[in-house]
Amino acid sequence: MSGDVLSTAGSGLLPSAEAAPLFQARELVKHFRSRRSVVQAVNGVSLTIPRGRTVGLVGESGSGKSTVARLALRLLEPTSGELSFDGVDLLRASRAQLRALRRRMQIVFQDPFGSLNPRMRVLDAVGEPLVVHRLATGKERVDRVVDLLERVGLGAGDLYKFSHQFSGGQAQRIGIARALATEPDLIVCDEAVSALDVSVQAQVLNLLKRLQSELGLSYLFIAHDLNVVRYMSDEVCVMYLGEIVEQGDGDALFADPRHPYTTMLVSAIADSPAEGSGRHRRRAVPRGEPASPSNPPSGCRFHPRCPHAMPRCQQEVPVMQRVSADRTVACHLFDARQEVSPR
Ligand code: ADP
Ligand code: MG
Repeated sequence: MSGDVLSTAGSGLLPSAEAAPLFQARELVKHFRSRRSVVQAVNGVSLTIPRGRTVGLVGESGSGKSTVARLALRLLEPTSGELSFDGVDLLRASRAQLRALRRRMQIVFQDPFGSLNPRMRVLDAVGEPLVVHRLATGKERVDRVVDLLERVGLGAGDLYKFSHQFSGGQAQRIGIARALATEPDLIVCDEAVSALDVSVQAQVLNLLKRLQSELGLSYLFIAHDLNVVRYMSDEVCVMYLGEIVEQGDGDALFADPRHPYTTMLVSAIADSPAEGSGRHRRRAVPRGEPASPSNPPSGCRFHPRCPHAMPRCQQEVPVMQRVSADRTVACHLFDARQEVSPR
């Protein structure tokens, strides 16, 4: 199963059976309904994660990134849409199928201390998934936990400690070891390094990269920090108010953003002072406030903040369109361009 590390990633020449993507979401929608309002947290998100690759999801706070994460793992029921994992329809899977698939998808959250039970020793925290999924007990479980700890740069000497005895970076390593326990194929990292200082962030990011190449993991890598997403991702999706507005090859997307929102995010990091303390240094804070997902603007949701807004942007919802070989953008600026030079 997950020993199948022979992905076609990198070769990219020959189509094969293994070329089917590991994970696919199609037109995912999640609306939270309360008596007073409907929060359109996710509004038609489609993304594909190939085996052994990292897809980044970036956008301001409240854009729906964590909701996508929870939908992807079926921790939340979508309002509509489709989800598949390794060719299995996640929304129609039986309980038994779902249980088997859950083992293969794990999540690492932002707050390492919050996601570790303070009363649990490392052995039990990391070894818990082995028990839940009936993968190992007794001495075998202890040995597996030691292996996992060594993979993340900790060791047998840490087995009987509690989470409060660790630094933030070490605690996040424990969270990663725990996620690795079931030998997943996909790990969703939801702001996994956002609470860490910059130097520690780099160590944890490099650990994630090393684990990816050793284990053939795929990541859905979510962060509001553009630089972190850029460093980690093969492909990037930019989210605004529940929608993906731009999608493409990571480096190219940041070097040459096409959607006005991506441009705004990229220039916000370029403008931010180079000094400043720790983790907030690289935080992208673009001008203006995002609208509320319970009352999103008509037409293009970004139009009230967009320096290029045209009359049609208030009325017509832009659809994702391909603007170059590996870039899609949802923006009316590109409709105009197509009229001028149709393909
Ligand atoms: P992000 O991770 O990008 O910051 P979230 O996915 O956490 O964004 O939230 C997207 C929007 O959905 C926000 O407006 C948030 O308040 C709202 N939201 C998230 N979870 C719920 C919920 N359980 N009930 C109602 N609204 C929610
Ligand atoms: Mg979030």
